[in-house]
Amino acid sequence: MRQESIRLPRDAMWLLQTLHAAGHSAYVVGGGVRDSLLGRQPGDWDICTSARPDQMKMLFADQQLILTGERHGTVGVVLHGKPYEITTYRLDGAYLDHRHPENVRFVSELAADLARRDFTINAMAYAPGEGVIDLYGGRKDLNAGIIRCVGEPSARFAEDALRILRALRFAARLEFTLDEQTAAAALSARDTLQSVSAERIYAELDGLLSVPGAGHVLAQYGQILAGAVPEVGPCIGCTQPGRWHCYDVWNHTAAAVGALDLRGQDTRGARILCWAAFLHDIAKPLCRSVGPDGAAHFKGHNQRGAVVARTILRRLKAPGYLIEGATGLIAIHDAPVPVGDVAILKCLNRYGAIFLRRLCTLKYADLDAHACTPDVAARRQDVEVFEKRMSELARTGCYTMRQLAVNGADLMEAGMPAGPKVGQMLHALLTAVMEGRLSNERNALLAEAERLAHRSE
Ligand code: ATP
Ligand code: MG
Repeated sequence: MRQESIRLPRDAMWLLQTLHAAGHSAYVVGGGVRDSLLGRQPGDWDICTSARPDQMKMLFADQQLILTGERHGTVGVVLHGKPYEITTYRLDGAYLDHRHPENVRFVSELAADLARRDFTINAMAYAPGEGVIDLYGGRKDLNAGIIRCVGEPSARFAEDALRILRALRFAARLEFTLDEQTAAAALSARDTLQSVSAERIYAELDGLLSVPGAGHVLAQYGQILAGAVPEVGPCIGCTQPGRWHCYDVWNHTAAAVGALDLRGQDTRGARILCWAAFLHDIAKPLCRSVGPDGAAHFKGHNQRGAVVARTILRRLKAPGYLIEGATGLIAIHDAPVPVGDVAILKCLNRYGAIFLRRLCTLKYADLDAHACTPDVAARRQDVEVFEKRMSELARTGCYTMRQLAVNGADLMEAGMPAGPKVGQMLHALLTAVMEGRLSNERNALLAEAERLAHRSE
């Protein structure tokens, strides 16, 4: 076997050494090995070992331990604030053969542990001195960019349907493709995803959507994904008019997800945008009609899309901010952008600058997933003009009551009785300011308030 060395963090090394010194076998395994061999920074380092949880607890008694997974053989050891999961080799079925010498038994146990792992690229182990243990061709698949089940794919998906989505998520993250048999088995088993908990499906989809390879995976494996989100099915092959589009609804959706430019977005904003792009046209098949000219129309697909997206996101138990953020964008994603300062200020007042910046990002991705026609280019330019002016007005304009140079207390001091009329008056003043009929200066505002109050007496 080729000896290769992987750089382990000092704490992971110490855990391995401590386990080895106590006579146990132990390896780093899974994602840490995979990512290291790819030259990527591993997210976490998991360890598998012949030690039983009781033995681990004794060995690491001086450390902070996390014991929530103990029943499944996992002990978490926290070192320098970072948790490491150490799991006893899991042997599926009766297996232990005590007639063999210890080291053979250890290797067999490791082999059994690797056999239960989902994909060849996730089924490699490493220990300093021993090198990479690769019993299922994980290295070859890593080099070829292939996600392949360990063992018989249909049996592995039948054991755990979530692996279907994990396959897509890893394909998106690593920009890999599914091995043919793995893809075929995932497709046949897609409906079993309905039996997986909403939380787990949501987490996998969320991971899938948020990486650069998402668009490609959505385009390639839409039929598989429809097992998790059945509303995707009718989008596949749903044709659109050539004046605007070069894709069907699903390929357009995939291209829009792939075209999202998430630079400058915080985590929540990025998540909202990924899901909004994924679901923005989800109601198009429901709204499709063919006009007298023979072209397809999708009247009402914005609003209807927001309703369908809300149903899907609720079903998946998505967090509230995501449901509100994504459905809010979907509801107006295709509406023309306002033109002129008055309309833009009113739009800022209604939606806020953060939302409108996200809307522009979604619109760019949506338009970039259209055909390259003059009509589409013109629409994109409208969005650019809007975004530029909107950003300026967001900095310099007055579009909220809080920005008015007077407040409710000022109006009451000037003689206005307390009550709902105060709020109405502030609203009227703000409208006048946004419409450019009044400058946002204290004296001008008070004079106008008095004039309006007299008028309504
Ligand atoms: P990530 O960087 O996303 O954490 P990972 O490979 O570490 O990638 P985890 O979900 O943390 O993925 O799981 C750790 C390891 O456990 C995997 O590499 C794989 O070997 C195994 N594993 C996880 N989930 C499954 C599953 N559903 N079926 C089989 N093996 C699994
Ligand atoms: Mg992991």
